[in-house]
Amino acid sequence: MTEETIFTKIINGTIPSKTIYHDDEVTAFLDINPKAQHHILIVTNKPIPSVAQVEKEDEKTLGHLFIVAKKIAEDLGVGESGYRLIVNVGKDGCQEVPHLHMHLLAGGNLGGFGFPEKK
Ligand code: AMP
Repeated sequence: MTEETIFTKIINGTIPSKTIYHDDEVTAFLDINPKAQHHILIVTNKPIPSVAQVEKEDEKTLGHLFIVAKKIAEDLGVGESGYRLIVNVGKDGCQEVPHLHMHLLAGGNLGGFGFPEKK
C-alpha cells in the first residue's frame, strides 16, 4: 500500500490544518508557508499524485477544483479584483507534495509571473 500523503492526513483530520472548505471531492486549507496575503491550497480528496497521472474519470473532480476556487475567491472578496491559480507538476515544475493541488494566491496586485531564465 502506498503511504498516505501529508494532504491525505490533513483531509482525514489526522494532522491539523486551517481547513476552510470540504466536500466529497476537494478540500481547501491555508498554506502553511503563505506566498501572498491569501494563500489557499485546494486539494483533490482522491490522492492523485499530479496532473501527470490524471485519468478521464477525474475530469469532473478537476472541473470542480475551478468551481471551488472561484467560490473561495468570491468569499475572500477578490472575485472581481483578481487572483492567481497555480498547479505545479513534477520535478521541473517544483511540485513538493505529490498529491494534486491548486494554489490560490490573492491580496493586492500579485505582479508579473516569475518565469525562469530561458536556457
Ligand atoms: P507544491 O510545491 O505545489 O507541491 O506546493 C506544496 C505546498 O504545500 C507548499 O506551498 C507548502 O507550503 C504547502 N504545505 C506543505 N505542508 C503543509 C501543511 N502541513 N499544511 C499546509 N500547507 C502545507
